[in-house]
Amino acid sequence: MRSLIYNARLVATMDDRGSELAEGYVLVDGDKIDLVGRGTLPSRVPVDVLMDARGRVILPGLVNTHHHLFQTLTRNVPTVQEAPLFRWLTELYQIWRNFDAESLDAAVRVGLGELLLTGCTTTTDHTYLFPRGQERFIDVQIAAARELGIRFHPGRGSMSRGKSQGGLPPDEVVQTEEEILSDCERLIHAYHDPNPGAMVRIDLAPCSPFSVSRQGMEAVRDLGRRAGVRLHTHLAETLDEERFCLEKFGARPVEYVESLGWTGPDVWHAHCVHLNTAEIDLFARTGSGVAHCPSSNMRLASGIAPVRAMRDAGVRVGLGVDGSASNDSSHLLAEARQAMLLQRVNGNPAALGAQEALEIATLGGASVLGRDDIGALAPGMAADFIGYRLARLEFAGALHDPLAALVFCTPPAVDLSVINGRVRVQDGQILGLDLPALIRRHDEISRAMIRET
Ligand code: ZN
Repeated sequence: MRSLIYNARLVATMDDRGSELAEGYVLVDGDKIDLVGRGTLPSRVPVDVLMDARGRVILPGLVNTHHHLFQTLTRNVPTVQEAPLFRWLTELYQIWRNFDAESLDAAVRVGLGELLLTGCTTTTDHTYLFPRGQERFIDVQIAAARELGIRFHPGRGSMSRGKSQGGLPPDEVVQTEEEILSDCERLIHAYHDPNPGAMVRIDLAPCSPFSVSRQGMEAVRDLGRRAGVRLHTHLAETLDEERFCLEKFGARPVEYVESLGWTGPDVWHAHCVHLNTAEIDLFARTGSGVAHCPSSNMRLASGIAPVRAMRDAGVRVGLGVDGSASNDSSHLLAEARQAMLLQRVNGNPAALGAQEALEIATLGGASVLGRDDIGALAPGMAADFIGYRLARLEFAGALHDPLAALVFCTPPAVDLSVINGRVRVQDGQILGLDLPALIRRHDEISRAMIRET
């Protein structure tokens, strides 16, 4: 089936030339983009569905490279509103130990719903808690993502160092390294799709290089490389972590992961706030990617990731909203705005522009996830795109540059989201999702969970 989205005020393709097509159209054939152009479609091309995009800007769907969907149930928890990372984690583990499949399902739907409405068409997730008897968490997430129709890269997280072994989490949410590896293998076999256009790809994602042993990190690395799946973890987020690594391993966090073989084009790390010049060069040289999470870094007072320096050095950088316990919002377009503003606070107003922030949110994220089939609008790419209505209060007076308005002004929700050729959001509503019922269910679970601790 062929669909034509036509008459858009602007189609921002994010192609090699960064083309912005006035009065543009996107022709979709099944799950792929067939043509992108300006003006009217050649009349000889047959079309089944027509969608008038008058007064809208169309751009590729945004890509979220770091998240913990389960955390939507623990937003804004009063006791950790002002906590630094390690105390924040220790206190929240006491709540998270009570997760089960039902609570996770509600959390995932809320997180994915918010992502869909804020422009995201591909998201990762990083779930690393597996309370006893809850070994099927990733399966629960994939089922919800398939129902909502979002492109999904669930990271099979893991922790093997509980409190009794000097780690932060309670023993009942960690697993043995044998359990972790065998579930990683099971998930790859059951769900991983290496083909172009894949809707589900599994990534392997120990929580952090110090919540799993050296042997555990190496075993996951070997499995990932054998199976051709990507590797992900948290890295260089705070100065506390840097001190911890220097004391425990006699190495900075990046030196430590380098010694584990956790750098390369199939690896991306979340945060990377505290990288020195040599480490940025290492990331550029090895093709290692970074998920930049500006809101979370501000919320936890972690610092300012050197995104300008990374981009100048050629490091692949994508955006991540991070979990809702450290951002409290899964608004991906707002994250592009935060990224732009945060790079400027050190004194350079030209440190990051709106166009580049959107490039990081689309092409940057696609590259970090090793995907050349998403992130731009061009023939043969997956049909993932979003549309924003421009006639709105937030943009009044800003339409001399409609694309930049998305980032400079208050970031709105999308009017349209098409993923893999299927309309998922129309007129600002997620199709097939009873949002009020979901919010009620989610809030009941959240209240009970926080009361229990
Ligand atoms: Zn995180």
